[in-house]
Amino acid sequence: MKIAFIGLGHMGSGMAANLVRAGHEVRAYDLSEAALTQAVADGCMGATSVGQACEGAEAVITMLPGGQHVLSVYSQVLERARKGALLIDCSTIDVESARQVAARAKIAGYAMIDSPVSGGMAGAKAGTLTFMCGGTKSAFDLAEPILKQMGKTVIHAGEAGAGQAAKLCNNMLLAITMIGTCEAFALAEKLGLKDQVFFDIASNASGQNWSMTSYCPVPGPVPTSPANNDYQPGFAAALMLKDLTLAMQAASVINADTPLGAKAHALYEALCSQGHSAQDFSYIMERIRRGA
Ligand code: NAD
Repeated sequence: MKIAFIGLGHMGSGMAANLVRAGHEVRAYDLSEAALTQAVADGCMGATSVGQACEGAEAVITMLPGGQHVLSVYSQVLERARKGALLIDCSTIDVESARQVAARAKIAGYAMIDSPVSGGMAGAKAGTLTFMCGGTKSAFDLAEPILKQMGKTVIHAGEAGAGQAAKLCNNMLLAITMIGTCEAFALAEKLGLKDQVFFDIASNASGQNWSMTSYCPVPGPVPTSPANNDYQPGFAAALMLKDLTLAMQAASVINADTPLGAKAHALYEALCSQGHSAQDFSYIMERIRRGA
């Protein structure tokens, strides 16, 4: 299949490489020369513009930083993609922009889904991402086999924007469970418990959760977690702050009450403003331990 891939950064590079490995002809475009060079080294064909990447492509995949980038790139995609091409946006963006792009695509006659991912750079590289999809069932059915070549779980969440809604709610929950886990470790330490002892108990009791057992924010109990690697990401605090900001925006539009989401947003905002945006989001452990 001929696939255009636009946005070959931390996530897009691994995803595009997996499509090449699956036998697709991938035409890649990125504003960054370095990203494009890497994509070509991974087996993609380099394009000189969004329009050139889209020419003749049966599917167009975008993996861009935010809503404004997606809106801007889609102005060109909708002009240049061939009729009948399937459009898949894997970026994490606000629900309103996702719905706006989907509406424009529909008017222009394209099938489109929003399909943000969970799983980080490691998942993008290994082809084990989870895709949360919004769009019509028929568009989802067309996208699913392509997404399965970049991930292990592909779920249809509902109509346009539903993939973004699922992603934002999931990451808000992740931030809250991470902060709760850090708070429990910090209190356990102050009460004289060793981290490993508290882990052994809580991970086998009702406090058990993913932030503890797969991504433990203190060094030791889970050797693969970023806490053992000086909190190198993983999933950077800046990206968690981005997702929490999108979640808070979405909540405010519909007047939803999200007190713990708001607190998590404030804590990550403070962490990033103290110069820790590039560290893993589990570095919030240090801030909670310090209590500042
Ligand atoms: P990134 O900044 O590494 O990559 C984005 C790429 O898009 C860059 O290479 C940039 O040059 C390119 N780009 C920007 N504007 C462009 C344009 N107009 N035309 C062509 N290329 C353009 O970001 P990333 O970490 O790969 O994340 C991509 C998306 O995936 C984001 O929405 C992010 O929130 C989401 N996400 C990231 C992670 C993660 O762990 N990094 C995890 C899940 C979801």
